[in-house]
Amino acid sequence: MQEQTSQKIYQQACRYFPGGVNSPVRAFKNVNSQPFVVHHGEGAILTDVDGNEMIDYVMSWGPLVLGHRHPEVERAVIDSLSRGWSYGAPCEAENLLAQKVQELFPSMEKMRFVSSGTEAVMGALRLARGASQRDLIIKCDGGYHGHSDGLLVSAGSGLATLGTSSSAGVPKDFAEKTIVIPINDIGALEQALERFKGQVAAFILEPVNGNVGCIPPKEGYLKRAKELTQAAGTHLIFDEVMCGFRASLGGAQSHFGVKPDITVLGKVIGGGFPVGAYGASSELMSSIAPDGPVYQAGTLSGNPVAMNAGLATLKALQQSHHDIACRRVDQLEDGIKKRQQKWQQPTCFQRVGSMFSLFLCEGPVENYQDACRVDQEHFAKFHRGMLEQGVFLAPSPFEAGFMSSAHSEQHIEKTLEALDAVLLQLA
Ligand SMILES: *Cc1c(COP(=O)(O)O)cnc(C)c1O
Repeated sequence: MQEQTSQKIYQQACRYFPGGVNSPVRAFKNVNSQPFVVHHGEGAILTDVDGNEMIDYVMSWGPLVLGHRHPEVERAVIDSLSRGWSYGAPCEAENLLAQKVQELFPSMEKMRFVSSGTEAVMGALRLARGASQRDLIIKCDGGYHGHSDGLLVSAGSGLATLGTSSSAGVPKDFAEKTIVIPINDIGALEQALERFKGQVAAFILEPVNGNVGCIPPKEGYLKRAKELTQAAGTHLIFDEVMCGFRASLGGAQSHFGVKPDITVLGKVIGGGFPVGAYGASSELMSSIAPDGPVYQAGTLSGNPVAMNAGLATLKALQQSHHDIACRRVDQLEDGIKKRQQKWQQPTCFQRVGSMFSLFLCEGPVENYQDACRVDQEHFAKFHRGMLEQGVFLAPSPFEAGFMSSAHSEQHIEKTLEALDAVLLQLA
């Protein structure tokens, strides 16, 4: 792999940005390496500034479910640009995207568009707290909900503990408003709701946990979580920023048939432009300003270009592209299952819809603790090997892979050959 130009540009970037990047995981620290610098993306392929071509399974960390530069999205963006790109006043594109989102997520009777997943989660939590007049929230260990203060917490020792901050700069008092439990453990939820009875505004979780690799919910877990939260007067929040439009078109709530009180969306909803959304029943959403007392706003919220990109993406997904992306994961899964024995090392493939993970450890992986079984050094070598074979996987063992409809059968075959080459060498 040629890397000179990437190295030169990355070194310049290190003069401007902490770690040379504008979002930490891009720095390749988890794989003891340095990032390549992108020149352009087209379909399933990223090309770096040295001319290396890679089959992309990061896809901008999830949003690009149609691949890079999908022609229908590009057309919608160019058309939208020609009418100006930010108004600070309503435009019809907001309604059209909302209508499409609601068709797929009927639990979102009303919604609010924002500019990122982080912001959407912040809005959802403020809504839950405002409506319930309670302060505490419960989250799952290893669940990622953006970088707002109260959510950068991890579990202390023991079950149902008040969280401890996982980032410097988060006041202790904030972290203590968050209770952290393991996912897929209904007993832990029951215990936490009991111990903090009458104080918990919301239980927030990724219904398919994608931020420690792809972890599906255990049979019956979501349904039981719904019953327990309902009985406790606690709002159930599904953070579907990652699994929305991927677990199924209507997200995990449609796939598993469990309706949350509040839904959070991001990533795919903007088709690669900055969009997030939160929504709930009309009654609950009437608490949001200007209808109600819970304040939330945004200068660029409902941006027309982003709305049109999202709308074009969701339309294409609905026509056939979601099915295509899922079929490619089927093909990858079949190929991997046929080869696992030959690789002579523990591997575990998990997927829901168009998201997947190949964990380099014994399966099943059911929670954050399980995902920690992967050896970081081993993963770093694997990651480097795959890059040299022309396959770009997320540079961390704790990330899911994202299929797009631009991945062809040939791309999957090539990926399987790369896995053979790299894993046999590492065995
Ligand atoms: C990516 C992600 C977020 C944060 O979204 P940003 O747009 O990066 O702020 C929140 N929740 C989940 C589940 C995510 O995967």
